[in-house]
Amino acid sequence: MEVQFVDFSEQYRIIKDEIEPGLKKVFETGNFILGQEEKDFESQFAQYCDSKYAVGVNSGTDALYLALAALGIKEGDEVILPTYTFIATALCISYGGAKPVFVDIEPTTYNMDPKALRKAITPRTKAIIPVHIYGQSANMDEILAIAKEHQLKVIEDAAQAHGARFNGKRIGSLGDVSCFSFYPTKALGAFGDGGMIVTSDEKIYKNSLMLRDYGREGRYEHKIKGYNSRLDTVQAVILSAKLKRLDQWNEMRAKMAEYYQEELKGVQGITSPMAKSDRTHVYQTYAIRVKNRDKVADALKEKKIGVLIHYPIPLHLQEAYKELGHKRGDFPVSEQVSSEILSLPMFPHITKEQIRYVCNSLKALV
Ligand SMILES: *Cc1c(COP(=O)(O)O)cnc(C)c1O
Repeated sequence: MEVQFVDFSEQYRIIKDEIEPGLKKVFETGNFILGQEEKDFESQFAQYCDSKYAVGVNSGTDALYLALAALGIKEGDEVILPTYTFIATALCISYGGAKPVFVDIEPTTYNMDPKALRKAITPRTKAIIPVHIYGQSANMDEILAIAKEHQLKVIEDAAQAHGARFNGKRIGSLGDVSCFSFYPTKALGAFGDGGMIVTSDEKIYKNSLMLRDYGREGRYEHKIKGYNSRLDTVQAVILSAKLKRLDQWNEMRAKMAEYYQEELKGVQGITSPMAKSDRTHVYQTYAIRVKNRDKVADALKEKKIGVLIHYPIPLHLQEAYKELGHKRGDFPVSEQVSSEILSLPMFPHITKEQIRYVCNSLKALV
């Protein structure tokens, strides 16, 4: 048997007939940039996130960067983020000359530890970026309370958590602004790059609109030095069709996660993901922890099982951030998790048979 890490062929089969006329229309009318379908998708996505506004951009990285710019984060400001995340969460801070300040994570959910966050706040801190890692919300109650107490902005990195909820509320509606990625392997993925800024704050919305489109207000009236970062109309057609099915696909992934959990229950040496009862986990990534991770990963690949490591090196130990002067031992939980974490195959249409094959192979290795 072969189990790919992600296999979207079934998703494509399901939306194929629906997207073809939509794509044909875009090809024929030529409204490739900010066409009506793009604007429609923005409204649909804002509504889906229980928020007022959404602004389509080039990528999740751009969504984060433009959101920080829209909030007025500038050189010399400090922005706090977990060290255990994808590097884009930090890059967006660096692009504008602000300083990323890393904090450690909780050992159970792998999300930002609110206690560590509190300790990292200085008079220069302007914002916090919680990351909803793997598809489960960070502890937003505590993070929002700390933000309020210190008058800090909260930018949710929701690149992995489309459709997840915290205390019943949709991810995308909790912070001042939320940033999504539509990179193909995300829970809601385009057929290329894409991203979205979501907010209910009119000022952030208006700033974001200008920032993604050369800083313009009228066609050739430019108020600020903006960028060129827009979501293609073609991608919006595809995303719109997928959005209608997102809740269903998220549920399918959660069911399959349950099945993994059952199959791996009580297996010595394996730590399954922990889903907290006050939030929904959409399992964009199904990550377990295992000793001898590298050996196990290699052995699974030999059995034609697609596995990946999210993430092998926490950001404070990345060469790109050596100027911050961190060393091994600074964030022990993140370092420990990085050495043991292993992402198993996960997609809405994975079968129980495939999961059994993965789990039996795993059990023979630990
Ligand atoms: C994917 C991802 C990003 C970046 O999104 P792109 O669309 O690839 O630029 C940012 N943060 C996290 C947590 C991600 O997983």
